[in-house]
Amino acid sequence: MIFKDLDKATLGQNTSFDHHETVRRLLLGPDTETVAIIAVHNSNLGPALGGCRYYPYANEDLALTDVLRLSRGMTYKNAMAGLPLGGGKAVIIGNFRTDKTDEIMADMGEGVESFEGKYVTAEDSGTTEEDMLVMSEKTEHVTGLPPEFFHGKDFGELGGNPSPLTALGCYRGIRAAAHHRYGGDALMGLKVAVQGVGAVGLELCKLLKQDGVELFVTDVNQQSIEQAKAELGDIHVVAPDEIYEVEAEVFAPCAMGGVLNDDTIPRLKAHIVAGAANNQLLKSHHDIQLLDKNILYVPDYVINAGGVICVGYEYFRKSGYNPLDFDITRESMVAHVERIGQTVTDVLSYATAHHLGTGEAADKLAEEKFMGGKPLDTNSEPPASFGQGGGRTLVQ
Ligand code: NAD
Repeated sequence: MIFKDLDKATLGQNTSFDHHETVRRLLLGPDTETVAIIAVHNSNLGPALGGCRYYPYANEDLALTDVLRLSRGMTYKNAMAGLPLGGGKAVIIGNFRTDKTDEIMADMGEGVESFEGKYVTAEDSGTTEEDMLVMSEKTEHVTGLPPEFFHGKDFGELGGNPSPLTALGCYRGIRAAAHHRYGGDALMGLKVAVQGVGAVGLELCKLLKQDGVELFVTDVNQQSIEQAKAELGDIHVVAPDEIYEVEAEVFAPCAMGGVLNDDTIPRLKAHIVAGAANNQLLKSHHDIQLLDKNILYVPDYVINAGGVICVGYEYFRKSGYNPLDFDITRESMVAHVERIGQTVTDVLSYATAHHLGTGEAADKLAEEKFMGGKPLDTNSEPPASFGQGGGRTLVQ
């Protein structure tokens, strides 16, 4: 594995560059032919946590743009989740089905290790828990590990599949948004249209159903629909393209990004958009388009932070890094996820008070947390203490 940091002059030509602290290009595999990039956007709050994506980008520029954008997004997400973590991300260019080998993943582990704790990786599209295990042979700074990693270790039921906790955070966020919009605490009798009943969407439906919500669901995968019918019973199934026009109070995107755009927003009948999918707004101006239509949009990275809270706690337990003295138990982790409801309330109230789109409101609140009110271009070195906690130093 060899690596080189990209210089600011080169990075400045990419419009997604946003004062990232470090952007490192790596060459992996026995012939050093596989290109990867790790970006640390901001580590003011702590080590930069974000997943490692394996994706067949058409060219390196697209991979760079993606890693710059995604790592920045993690800074905002981790800050709003109240985690002592910064934002980072990694991408490996290639087809994960045909190109991925243990040698490449082990080299990637070395790449993560080269950050000496300033970047912490986890699984993402195209990588698995097993890949994290391979990387863990080269670096401690990896989380989202498979159950076998925890055998014989006291992990207090931390670790494991984060999807149910992402769903729990979404459920709390939907309750908070409904309260903000309609008053009252009950969801009983409301209609929710869920796009995608996969790992998160199905769990979310189960929680909503317990509250007496009428569910409308769609999925492009018939098997997922059959499973949803079997597990949820009485639901309305609609065609994928019809989900935007369902006469429901809440639209919950739980499938893919970019679903709030020029085509879909005019078709929405819902008063609230709140769901797990990442990057729901196709462009930032769609935040204002939703506001103009009087649709309450719950920013995706605020409501879907349950998963990162889950892998964050796993990392805190595994590494001993715990500067905020969290009680690192499953119980307190679940309580942390449940607080997403309060964070959603804070964002929506701030947006209302300042006449802002909710996306912009969340960004401002996040920047307040990780920059302490300073503009990003005065970004300084992270505080020397950021890698310390629980009696152990992450940055040697
Ligand atoms: P998943 O792959 O398990 O489920 C997604 C479902 O959406 C699948 O059943 C798929 O068939 C369906 N789908 C895809 N395209 C669709 C379309 N056009 N219309 C309708 N359905 C469609 O993924 P997941 O883990 O449930 O994640 C869902 C979303 O939430 C993703 O955007 C993911 O990035 C985001 N997210 C997930 C987590 C997590 O913990 N899993 C955390 C944060 C964010």
